[in-house]
Amino acid sequence: MAYAYDPDNIFAKILRGEIPNDTVLETEHSLAFRDIRPQAPTHVLVIPKGSYVSFDHFARDATEAEILDYMRTIGEVCRMEGVEEDGFRLISNAGGHGVQEVPHLHVHILAGRPLGRMLQ
Ligand code: IMP
Repeated sequence: MAYAYDPDNIFAKILRGEIPNDTVLETEHSLAFRDIRPQAPTHVLVIPKGSYVSFDHFARDATEAEILDYMRTIGEVCRMEGVEEDGFRLISNAGGHGVQEVPHLHVHILAGRPLGRMLQ
């Protein structure tokens, strides 16, 4: 499958420094910043710096260094935000059925309140 990456998406603009963001952590291959419309007391987005549309695209085309950095950044942000004790949720929306608004891979870290049951 071909993944067409739109370089004008808002997270690409954040990565190029064209629009501001509230950075939580930046590493060689990843950036974590606060969601502009938080759905929980802690709502951080973690993105790879590479041009990947979604998790399946990333898993196929990213280097091992990028993948390792991304996974460690997600874990490190959870530690920094202090959400591990009470718990948290990771979400990555993809495509139309996943209702992905921004076509650059991102994981939402949600925490700070009971998040309810998603899957029955
Ligand atoms: P999606 O539905 O998983 O694609 O969610 C995209 C997320 O990006 C939403 O939760 C938005 O609130 C968030 N978002 C959109 N623009 C910005 C921004 O400029 N800074 C931070 N978060 C943003």
